[in-house]
Amino acid sequence: ETPAEQIETTEIPVKKQVVNDNDSRTTQIQIVDENKQFTTILSDSMKNVWKLDENGFNFHILSIFGSQSTGKSTLLNKLFNTKFQVMNEESRQQTTKGIWISQAENSNLLILDVEGTDGRERGEEQDFERKSALFTLAISEVLVINIWENMVGLYQGANMGLLKTVFEVNMQLFLQQQGKIKTLLLFVIRDFTGRTPMSNLSDVLTNELNKMWKDISKPEEYSESTLSDYFDLMFTSLPHKIFLPDQFEKEVLELKERFYNPEDSNYVFKPNYHRGIPADGFSNYAESIWDKVAYNHDLDIPTQQQLLAEYRCDEIAKAIVSEFQNDIAKYKEMLENGEILEDMGKIFNEVREKALELYDSSAGRYRKEVYARKRIDFLEKMNTYLHVYYLLQLRNLEKKAYSNFKNNITEAVKDDSLFFVDTLENHKSKCIEDFKKLAEESKLQETTWNYTDHLNQLIKEIDEYGKITKDQQLNKIKKNVEKNTLNLLNGSIPIKMNNVREHLWDELGEDLSKALNNSINQYKSLIQGYDCTDSEVDSNVRSIRKSGWDMFINLIAEETTDNIILVRLREKFEEVFRYDKNGLPRIWNNNDDIDSFFKKAKEEALALISLFTFIDISEQKIRDITGLEDIKKQDLTIIDGDRSKKLLSKFLREIELQYIDAKRSVVRTTSK
Ligand code: GDP
Ligand code: MG
Repeated sequence: ETPAEQIETTEIPVKKQVVNDNDSRTTQIQIVDENKQFTTILSDSMKNVWKLDENGFNFHILSIFGSQSTGKSTLLNKLFNTKFQVMNEESRQQTTKGIWISQAENSNLLILDVEGTDGRERGEEQDFERKSALFTLAISEVLVINIWENMVGLYQGANMGLLKTVFEVNMQLFLQQQGKIKTLLLFVIRDFTGRTPMSNLSDVLTNELNKMWKDISKPEEYSESTLSDYFDLMFTSLPHKIFLPDQFEKEVLELKERFYNPEDSNYVFKPNYHRGIPADGFSNYAESIWDKVAYNHDLDIPTQQQLLAEYRCDEIAKAIVSEFQNDIAKYKEMLENGEILEDMGKIFNEVREKALELYDSSAGRYRKEVYARKRIDFLEKMNTYLHVYYLLQLRNLEKKAYSNFKNNITEAVKDDSLFFVDTLENHKSKCIEDFKKLAEESKLQETTWNYTDHLNQLIKEIDEYGKITKDQQLNKIKKNVEKNTLNLLNGSIPIKMNNVREHLWDELGEDLSKALNNSINQYKSLIQGYDCTDSEVDSNVRSIRKSGWDMFINLIAEETTDNIILVRLREKFEEVFRYDKNGLPRIWNNNDDIDSFFKKAKEEALALISLFTFIDISEQKIRDITGLEDIKKQDLTIIDGDRSKKLLSKFLREIELQYIDAKRSVVRTTSK
């Protein structure tokens, strides 16, 4: 071998974070490398390779300690079918330093193989050894101490120096947990010959350990503590692997029972050795422990567990909240589209219950105080998300209730004899009850949610709509009643204006009075269900009276246009002048006194015009009939002076023509 080749072969083969992937189930990773760097793939391995992430507390950690090249890795590989690097027999090539972790085959066991030194070397190595001890003790339930038989009793031996380190770091870690959390030290005496009985060897070791415990420096209040407050001891042996291979294999198989078989009386994983770290928090916990150790920061287990609990409870809650948000997202669009989510309360209580159960089952394994505190935040967060949905639901419920109410009212007012106020109240209370019922049902349990704002808004809208509808209805009734007035007046005024000559205005006054009274009575009976105030009634009645009076005036005006007046005058004139008493047209002859007929006809016609120049009812009477106090005398005028003059001159010209025609017809008959 050349020196160069020697260097070549002693070079440490570094394969960072690399997995040995022949068998993914037993894949090992270098949890801490030779540069004291913590692995980045522990969390992934826990979850995806070893599939222990959801095991809760149902997993165990075992580590092995001992001098270099004492067959530790060889033993682990035998016991657990792991693939830790073993020193090559021929080349005596050193194995890769650092701490390795692997899953024991077909199990929930994780095995740590510490590739250190024998502690005799430089300070750098001792530092690493101490750090490994701290780290390993913090997370392992069982420490296997691998020791050759011929080293037992050599107190100054390197192997015992390592134990001293373990005891010292234990003081740092578990001081306050005296008796609560223990660690099992399982001594495996290698190359055991049997020359000295096991019981002697174990006595020697026990004595040495107790002595060592006494000697390590302890805080004042723990000076009386004993080794057994913190450690249980167990001893076993294995024969020489090379010289007694069959025996070795057989005893390894027997030893296996202690790790795999909970029924075995020597089963090593007792509950009080468990570090209380749930599997899903393990990688985070291990890394934070190593961080403290690597940078020589103060490290104590209670603080670390507190920090882990804080971190993990947050993580767990976060993951569940995100799942929970996915679960409820489908309702969002629906609610935003204005739909109502039937069974919202039931659905949301269930979704939240499910999330809480998930949280409880994972986070419940961490410190109770942290778990409980974070649970309040977690619940609050979910409630806040759901409250947004609840508000949308309330908005939709309110809209629906209002629209139902409107439809019901629209339908109800089709009935004229409706008792409006009662109907309104009935629909209002039904609408409010419906809203309240659904708003109440949609609530999430154990919240302070309320729907007061939406309810108040709904009531306000209903009341406004009720008021508007009431006004519309009253208006409609008034309009109908006024139409009725018009019908009655229409049925009497034109006929009477044409035909009645004696007491015309008395009759018309009577008719107006009847029509108004009829309408007002009708109105009063129709609005009975509307709960109108006296002043509302008074003002509408006055409006009915006013419009009745206006109709009366208009109808009179229509019946007294210039043309109609002229026709009536002409008819009257002709009745006397052109027709005899049998209604036959006159044939004028010489004996007829045309002049006196003309005079009489003209006088009768002129008497008629005075009937139409004003409404011949006294002001007071008109006021009594209409109830309108502001009617004045001039309001009763139909034809004023100017119009009267023009009508007369037009009329006179017409009849003068008839007079001349009559005269001429006599001349013609005489001259024949
Ligand atoms: P480690 O450094 O403690 O992990 O030791 P290794 O497992 O790498 O083994 C170191 C050397 O010891 C190898 O050459 C093994 O073949 C050898 N070896 C393994 N088991 C035994 C044993 O039970 N007795 C003896 N004497 N040597 C062993
Ligand atoms: Mg090894």
